[in-house]
Amino acid sequence: MATLRFNALKETLNRTPVSIKEDERRSDLFARNVFNQKAMRQHLTKDSYKSLKNAIERGDKIDRSLAENISSGMKEWAISKGATHYTHWFQPLTGSTAEKHDAFFETIEDGGAMEKFSGAQLVQQEPDASSLPNGGIRNTFEARGYTAWDPSSPAFIWNSTLCIPTVFVSYTGEALDYKTPLLRSVSALDKAATDVVKYFDKKATKVITTLGWEQEYFLVDSALAKTRPDLMMSGRTLLGHAPAKGQQLDDHYFGSIPSRVLNYMRDLEKECMLLGIPVKTRHNEVAPNQFELAPIFEEVNLAVDHNSLLMDVMDKVAERHHFKVLFHEKPFQGINGSGKHNNWSLATDTGTNLLSPGKTPMKNLQFLTFFINTIKAVYENEELIRAAIASASNDHRLGANEAPPAVISVFIGSQLTKVLDELEKVTDGKLSPEEKTDLKLNVVGKIPEILLDNTDRNRTSPFAFTGNKFELRAVGSTANCADPMTVLNAMVTKQLIEFKKEVDALIADKKMKKDDAIFNVLREYIKASKKIRFEGDGYGQAWEDEAAKRGLSNNKKTPEALQAKISQKAIDLFSELKIMNEVEVKARYEIEIEDYSKHIQIEGRVLGDIARNHIIPTAIKYQNILIKNVQGLKDIYGSDFKDQARQQLNIIESISKHIESINKEVDLMIDERKKANALENPTEMAFAYCNQVRPYFDSIRYHCDKLELLVDNETWPMTKYRELLFTK
Ligand code: ADP
Ligand code: MG
Repeated sequence: MATLRFNALKETLNRTPVSIKEDERRSDLFARNVFNQKAMRQHLTKDSYKSLKNAIERGDKIDRSLAENISSGMKEWAISKGATHYTHWFQPLTGSTAEKHDAFFETIEDGGAMEKFSGAQLVQQEPDASSLPNGGIRNTFEARGYTAWDPSSPAFIWNSTLCIPTVFVSYTGEALDYKTPLLRSVSALDKAATDVVKYFDKKATKVITTLGWEQEYFLVDSALAKTRPDLMMSGRTLLGHAPAKGQQLDDHYFGSIPSRVLNYMRDLEKECMLLGIPVKTRHNEVAPNQFELAPIFEEVNLAVDHNSLLMDVMDKVAERHHFKVLFHEKPFQGINGSGKHNNWSLATDTGTNLLSPGKTPMKNLQFLTFFINTIKAVYENEELIRAAIASASNDHRLGANEAPPAVISVFIGSQLTKVLDELEKVTDGKLSPEEKTDLKLNVVGKIPEILLDNTDRNRTSPFAFTGNKFELRAVGSTANCADPMTVLNAMVTKQLIEFKKEVDALIADKKMKKDDAIFNVLREYIKASKKIRFEGDGYGQAWEDEAAKRGLSNNKKTPEALQAKISQKAIDLFSELKIMNEVEVKARYEIEIEDYSKHIQIEGRVLGDIARNHIIPTAIKYQNILIKNVQGLKDIYGSDFKDQARQQLNIIESISKHIESINKEVDLMIDERKKANALENPTEMAFAYCNQVRPYFDSIRYHCDKLELLVDNETWPMTKYRELLFTK
């Protein structure tokens, strides 16, 4: 086995980088493989173009009679770009993307063939998706699932295939994917936010949600990765002793990017340009071999599609460079994990970022309205946000002294804290002219137009205001951003609807002026949501204790965290806003809770196998060498051999002890797994996996890692941490 490890190391050390030249401007490459407005204008009739444009911009329905022209225009465009197939591209609840390719090619009566793509094929398909998770929806309703075109995200060509972004729903209308609830949340928020914006800006008719994600990842040489069954099967290393040098020197962060990696990034970015994914920033992250990629922000639906597509593109491009991309939140114990910061904001069709302070007091009052309502929404729904980012893999990262804790709090910085403190003192009732002038000049008027450069950065906060947007930092690197974004949109929608109701009531019943009413309601929100605001160090135990006193939730593990998803409060929130009905909410919970058990089950099996089939036999082999050595010493020294063989005997004994412990712990783990598997209730099963099975991982690992230190390096079968992390 060790030969596999050494062969892989040799292969890695002998690699020459696949050199990627950038000979075309990125702006020329950008969106070349996207059926965007430019391509539409060229390939569609005037009517079709207009209809499609209205569908994209206003959500209008596309006239079925025009679908034929659109599909044939799309086909011509795609074929001219070398596409041979088309697919409805969607995001089922598995976490990755799904596609089934069909060739344009069809035979015709005269024995010849031609390329075909009809309007019906564009608009709707019925994938044989019976194996995709549905949380019982399709079984319950005996309804099949179908995919339907989402014109708001443009079609693109990837791998010679025309990919048409679609939603995936059951025939009874229940969402079977991530996109459908996201789109519903986007329109709910549009309506609620536009109603509130009208207090400030009569011209605005639409509010969009914006998302800018930051994708963190590790790169490991593919030959090395293949020697690790744990990495290949569970996405993370289940054992491995910490290397002598880790990240303690901080010499990787923002350091120069190794040339092999740089070539990978160039290649990747080129593909992203062609696909219209506006990636902009790349850099080394904190851990060795860890990197980050971030785009310019986009409308949330498109941004989510682009992130899902990106993860797929990253995998494929990595193959060309002999890398394996690790998206897992914690691939290596003791080394920083990966997240996916979600930068979230709202913007009007009049070009205003609603979370950006403006030039006038009125603009700033608008800013404060959206700012404070968001904080209040997070306060009311903190447990649901925690649930939205919960997964077996993200559990390793949250609270691990490098990532936000499982407690959700909001950081706003000292300047805005001062502003909110002032606003809290606003008179109850009508404001005097003096007070208004004072507010205008000294409070609202004093918010700097550009907060961006003056905002303090608190990297330990899970939900931080960063000058012109909120940044949800607790999202895992493997996650589909749609779920946390849907939750955030939903809770802010509900909050804005309540806000408007309360302000309108003060105007109507108390005859208050609009500004007075807004100040009054905001004051109450500031008071009510104070407990969610935290400016200190989010990583320490002190904050956990303080958070407990404040009554904030601290659901450390996924099964516990997920319960908030099916609380009556969550069901009411989603169903009132028509984002998800009760069946859809419960189905998603079911999928996630089962997914959790399956993850831990797989990890447990892989760990048990490696411990028994790789580690123990290797340890015995080495122990036999020592035994032979001791026997030889006995031959030479006779009864005095023990003086000469003391160290060897110690190691022999240690090895036996560790082997015994591993065997015992693996047996116990298997027993617990059997018990867990026998449970019929998926929630009980997940809790059993979490509380009874998972704890054995640490103890089994402990003994394996100790053996790694004892056993001869030449015979150790698993590629070591130092090799995975420091071989370039
Ligand atoms: P950082 O210091 O965290 O790197 P940046 O200003 O570079 O901050 O932004 C990080 C991310 O925030 C980028 O992905 C960017 O696209 C995104 N972002 C910037 N403005 C907005 C916005 N208005 N809405 C959503 N995302 C945004
Ligand atoms: Mg960030």
